[in-house]
Amino acid sequence: MAQVKEFKTEVRQLLNLMIHSLYSNRDIFLRELVANAADAIDKARFESLTTPELAQEWQIRLEVDKENKTLTICDNGIGMTEEEVVENIGTIAKSGTKAFIQMLEARKDQENIPELIGQFGVGFYSAFMVANEVELRTKKAGSDAPAVCWKSKGEGEYELDTVEKTTPGTEIKLKLKEDAELYMESWKISEIIHRYSDFIEYPIVMPEVKTNEDKTETVTDRVLNSQKAIWLRKASEITDDEYKSFYGHISNYGGEYLKAIHMSAEGVSEFKALLFLPKQAPFNLLMPDIQKKGLQLYVRRVFITDECKELIPDYLRFVNGVVDSSDLPLNVSREILQENPHLDKIRNAVTGKILSELKKLKENDRDTYAAFFKEFGKVLKEGIHTDFTNAEKIKDLVLYETMNTEAGKQISLEEYVNAMPEEQKEIYYISGEKREAVEASPALEYFRSKGYDVLFMIDPIDEWLMQSMFQYRKKNFKSITKGDFEVEGSADALKEAQEKFAGLVEFLKNTLGDKVSEVRFSARLTESPCCLITEGNALSPHMERLFKAMHQEIPVSKRILELNAKHPLVEAFAAVYSKDEKQPELAAYANVLYDQALLTEGSPLPDPAAFAKQVSELLLNAMAERRPR
Ligand code: ADP
Repeated sequence: MAQVKEFKTEVRQLLNLMIHSLYSNRDIFLRELVANAADAIDKARFESLTTPELAQEWQIRLEVDKENKTLTICDNGIGMTEEEVVENIGTIAKSGTKAFIQMLEARKDQENIPELIGQFGVGFYSAFMVANEVELRTKKAGSDAPAVCWKSKGEGEYELDTVEKTTPGTEIKLKLKEDAELYMESWKISEIIHRYSDFIEYPIVMPEVKTNEDKTETVTDRVLNSQKAIWLRKASEITDDEYKSFYGHISNYGGEYLKAIHMSAEGVSEFKALLFLPKQAPFNLLMPDIQKKGLQLYVRRVFITDECKELIPDYLRFVNGVVDSSDLPLNVSREILQENPHLDKIRNAVTGKILSELKKLKENDRDTYAAFFKEFGKVLKEGIHTDFTNAEKIKDLVLYETMNTEAGKQISLEEYVNAMPEEQKEIYYISGEKREAVEASPALEYFRSKGYDVLFMIDPIDEWLMQSMFQYRKKNFKSITKGDFEVEGSADALKEAQEKFAGLVEFLKNTLGDKVSEVRFSARLTESPCCLITEGNALSPHMERLFKAMHQEIPVSKRILELNAKHPLVEAFAAVYSKDEKQPELAAYANVLYDQALLTEGSPLPDPAAFAKQVSELLLNAMAERRPR
């Protein structure tokens, strides 16, 4: 007896999209179904290592019935029990699906959506882009459970029933929509298989009818894919098209790749690998939970697992590829994998290779490297904090904008250090939200006057990373907006100013109250009257805002107001103050001075309206004096 069940809400929304909104690049439905078939065979073959009765001639078959307008994808893989069908096909278990659906709905450019479908692991449903009814019959390998038939028109519900099917595996029959009848043509099917599924290890076959001379017909199976394991071949023998097609097949993101890296390791650990650096970052690069990562692991050409995270550190998660090991046992289980010392060796070798290739790229093709770093730099940098062994190598790979570069252009730490004047001892940096915010900081004045360059740390991760940077080439990093700052020969002048303007300093401290922990003179400034500095180990205001944006409670640090003794404004303020300490305008002057220090460092004002009011009043007073009477 057939039972009728309802799809879960998320599946229904997704199907609705598939059926009614997606018309571009529908070809990928076949890639997705063939990939599922190959996965199912991978699983069955894996089982057969311990249960030899399950072994057979693995194959994916594509059958067309022109009369009934159907295309059927058959595999002799692992199959599913009824429960598994309900679990796998009736619901979407992945977290983040809701966000994904919302994103799909909101997108204007429908062009790339099919790529995202594959990324998101909802490939099965893409069948509904071309079919108005899908019938799946499946029998679980090595189980007594009866075969199941799942049927749906994609509109809210599906039907489940038991069926006669004696061989294990899955058949998916698509009743093609009128505008999708093209997918019954063998040239079209071959084209798609060649483009997307050429490297699938199992033969993908299609029965072909030949009319003989005596008018009889013979049916032969034509194999549509080459099945070549490209990673075992020499780089020099692989064509660009082959690389492209393989990348399309294994990449977690789709899109184009920047560079293919071949590895062949012998000795301690024997393995071959083919790795790809992608060209563009996927939309979810910084959303680790919903992102596929890791490399594919094969053992002597037998597929073991996808997304093997043990093979590559997290900060290289954008790398796609395949590792084929000769050392691991074939019947390795996924749990054992996690503790296998061979995997550590492979990971170390893979990491070293990628870092050295990146270094070569940086040295030999700077523009390409710069483009790569724009896309993936923020992820790569994490390694400085997480991979102690390779931290120095990663420091060689990071790029920063600086005070002396044009906007958008970046230099390496090596270039920074090489350009340091002899008397400069430390590597200076300033952190903030964006270039415009740090570029205008008065704290840069001294460095500009001395001809020292200053690194702009304008990536959200930068300041956090500084905790692990310590040094580069034995030179310390120093924030120019944090802590004490000494300039040779300035101590006496500062002490003098501190004494000369003691009254004003005291007044500012009292008036600004809680906003500042200290008011002092410094040699940091040459053009501006004042700036705000953070105490040595306190968070910068930029970091404070980042933490707040992440809803984290953090203590707000008090700032130090630094004054420029040579600035006429300071001089004038002191004079006005000593004339009459009780003038009501003095407090307004102090507040405006403090607020403009906030503005120049790119911090928002706590009370912009009050600031505007005070500035207006000051303007009015100034004008009243100049106004013709
Ligand atoms: P994904 O393959 O990314 O998990 P799909 O929506 O394509 O997402 O498939 C959902 C699940 O259905 C698969 O994970 C698998 O468990 C099951 N499945 C799909 N096709 C087959 C098949 N041909 N044989 C066995 N199981 C399958």
